[in-house]
Amino acid sequence: MRRGRGGGGTSPLRARLVRRIRRFGPLSVAEYMAVALHDPEQGYYATRDPLGAAGDFVTAPEVSQMFGELIGLWSAVVWQAMGSPDPVLLVELGPGRGTLMADALRAAARAPGFRAAIRVHLVEASARLKAAQATTLAGAGPRWHASLAEVPEGPSILIANEFFDALPLRQFERAEAGWHERLVGLDARARLGFVREARPFPGLPPGLADDRPPGAVVEVSAAALALAAAIAGRTARVGGAALILDYGAEPPAPGGTLQAVRRHRPVDVLDAPGEADITAHVDFAALARTAEAAGARAFGPLAQGTWLRRLGIETRAEALRGAASGAEQRAAIDSALRRLIAPEEMGTLFKALAVAHPGLGIPPGFEEDA
Ligand code: SAH
Repeated sequence: MRRGRGGGGTSPLRARLVRRIRRFGPLSVAEYMAVALHDPEQGYYATRDPLGAAGDFVTAPEVSQMFGELIGLWSAVVWQAMGSPDPVLLVELGPGRGTLMADALRAAARAPGFRAAIRVHLVEASARLKAAQATTLAGAGPRWHASLAEVPEGPSILIANEFFDALPLRQFERAEAGWHERLVGLDARARLGFVREARPFPGLPPGLADDRPPGAVVEVSAAALALAAAIAGRTARVGGAALILDYGAEPPAPGGTLQAVRRHRPVDVLDAPGEADITAHVDFAALARTAEAAGARAFGPLAQGTWLRRLGIETRAEALRGAASGAEQRAAIDSALRRLIAPEEMGTLFKALAVAHPGLGIPPGFEEDA
């Protein structure tokens, strides 16, 4: 058994997890993430609005209206390529405060007929964020669902920004003789700590080549792969496209990418379950493979900065700058633009992946990578 560090915080959920592990044994990392993020009473998303300067992290739609607007225009072009179906479902997974959707709908109104055809469907687990979305999107008549499976089938455009990173994953560690699952257990002082399952994992963790050196950690999110397959299956059956945006370093860090953030600072993943956001980098190559195996076409992943530039974010920033009321507002627009596209900010680490019906053609922004 190997010990991790730092699971000695004092969150109420931590105490419950310690009792549970004492009785029933270690949890998989996926089980730990699911409880820490979604426990109905003490889970992270149940108890707080994590977004914005006063929260734990800031996402692209909260940085600038340009992000959602360009996604709205992207959706309009996709809709036209679909043959302008009316109605069309505009589905968003994990809409946060509803900011992206509100900006997208405003931009969608520029394509004749598109706005009126849209039916907004939101997949959201958090009651707190659902309430925020209801306020932001009051005029749009959204319908909420607990999972994609509940969203009615029909020609759809689906958006997921920083959704896949929160899906539970399992970790496996390469030892001399094979792979062992990494679990969340207790150390000698009854604190949460990473432990290694003594028995090797039977066979290889799903989808892996056996070419990693001892000590390497790999992450497999069954939830993410199942969701990618479901999105692709729907898209291939009923038409349309999906746009997945998230962070995912290439290649992924050899020691695993699981991370926790609280008030804009990295914290130990095991320190305060329920009080910190826990995520991991998204394995875009695996999502693309899974989507293609399920009958759709995948485009990308492409660096977010490149994709936004191809969609014309610099022109949009110029227009906003022209309409700005003073130097301060202009500086804010410049700084937001930089944040979204600069390589050392969100431009390179963040990626865009499109999943489309095989007959749709190349979605906007993905042309040179098709
Ligand atoms: N897309 C938004 C919010 C990102 S935070 C933005 O870019 O600002 C992640 C979002 O996904 C939150 O709305 C969170 O409540 C939701 N979420 C996380 N896991 C979920 C799950 N398993 N089912 C439904 N919603 C989930």
